[in-house]
Amino acid sequence: MRITGGTVLSMRPGDSPAVRDVFVENDRIAQFGQSAGGEVIDASGCYVMPGLIQTHIHLVQTIFRGLAEELSLLEWLRDRIWPLEAAHDEASLRATARLGLLDLLTTGTTTILDMGTTHGGDVIAEELVSSGIRARFGQTMMDGGDGVPKGLRETTGASLHASARLVMKWNEAADGRIGYAYAPRFALSCTRELLEAVGDITKRLGLLVHTHSNENVTERSLIEAATGQAPIAYLDGVGLVNERSVIAHGVHLDDAEVATLRERGAAITHCPSSNLKLGSGIADVRALRERGIMVGIGADGAACNNRLDGFDELRLAALLAASLHGPGALSASDVLAMGTRDGARAMRLDAEIGTLEVGKKADVIVLDAERLAGPGGDPATRIVYGGGSRAVRDVIVDGQVIVRSFVPVTLDAAEVQARAAEALPSLTKRAGL
Ligand SMILES: [Zn+2]
Repeated sequence: MRITGGTVLSMRPGDSPAVRDVFVENDRIAQFGQSAGGEVIDASGCYVMPGLIQTHIHLVQTIFRGLAEELSLLEWLRDRIWPLEAAHDEASLRATARLGLLDLLTTGTTTILDMGTTHGGDVIAEELVSSGIRARFGQTMMDGGDGVPKGLRETTGASLHASARLVMKWNEAADGRIGYAYAPRFALSCTRELLEAVGDITKRLGLLVHTHSNENVTERSLIEAATGQAPIAYLDGVGLVNERSVIAHGVHLDDAEVATLRERGAAITHCPSSNLKLGSGIADVRALRERGIMVGIGADGAACNNRLDGFDELRLAALLAASLHGPGALSASDVLAMGTRDGARAMRLDAEIGTLEVGKKADVIVLDAERLAGPGGDPATRIVYGGGSRAVRDVIVDGQVIVRSFVPVTLDAAEVQARAAEALPSLTKRAGL
């Protein structure tokens, strides 16, 4: 396949945007420059860049969009999200996964780190495989905590067993496009015994740990009251702060916690829309990056966003940094890096994705520049501030075309919407909402 005539933003540090052809052989970028043969995707007048990587997503919550409004984190979880997650059956899980994947792929996200609920991991995995997206996913783990409904509460043993089974079945599935990431939900809904076991297992298997922490002031103080430690110190003590950790939020971190994150090489996912909508606060991403912490970006779930548009998150990240530190605190290029190569590093996938380079996986998006606000400005500025997602014309993952000329190939948009609308009434009824 040849993607011809577009302005390529490789996202390699030091590279400038340049008009180049991208030649894709099977699942990888084979070369740049002139070449012959293969299917041609004409990208004249377009920007060609790596697909976005979102390092914190909950596909299971997409169908809850609009059902959990105007609440802060702990009430939002206990009164709405947990009852709804507990009520999921196979049909609603399939519907929510497809709804989310349709949103993500058509707005230019090609890789996600996803956290499921405590059941139905196989359904989510099947949908990840068939959609064509690249993903690391995990069924969430909840063996403790207050207000967890019966339908979600697990015993420690059952929780560990469920994840172990899913690892066997799905890790490195679809030629490595899908992988497993352990997902203990957060310190308040997991026992110390479970967290320690997850620390041991993921170290032995070399798998990612995906969790939430330091999101909200109340959550932070409850963890301090329960454990006598700051949240990151507690997670560190159970073996969950290391170079395989991706920790969502990191809004309320003290200096010692930031130092621990840095020493251990753990990554934070910045979720600006979610943090603003739940009133959690503003993560100081510029400060984290300056102190050497890897920061990825994530829309979180559609129930607290209410979109899954990665370009929205990049724009907001830049705007929030400007409001904290002044204009340019995070440039358009900085946030584009967060959404591509930094996300790849956070997920330990930087040898394969995150930049357009010969030998890397062909996870490529083509943006129609005419759809971006313009005509002035450098490419990064136009993409970040000019409405990047509405310009996403073609999406390629693993060398496969997933969206062609704005039309999804692997998912039928009308069918996805219809199934979701069909599944929703019985889901909310089962949840008692
Ligand atoms: Zn989350």
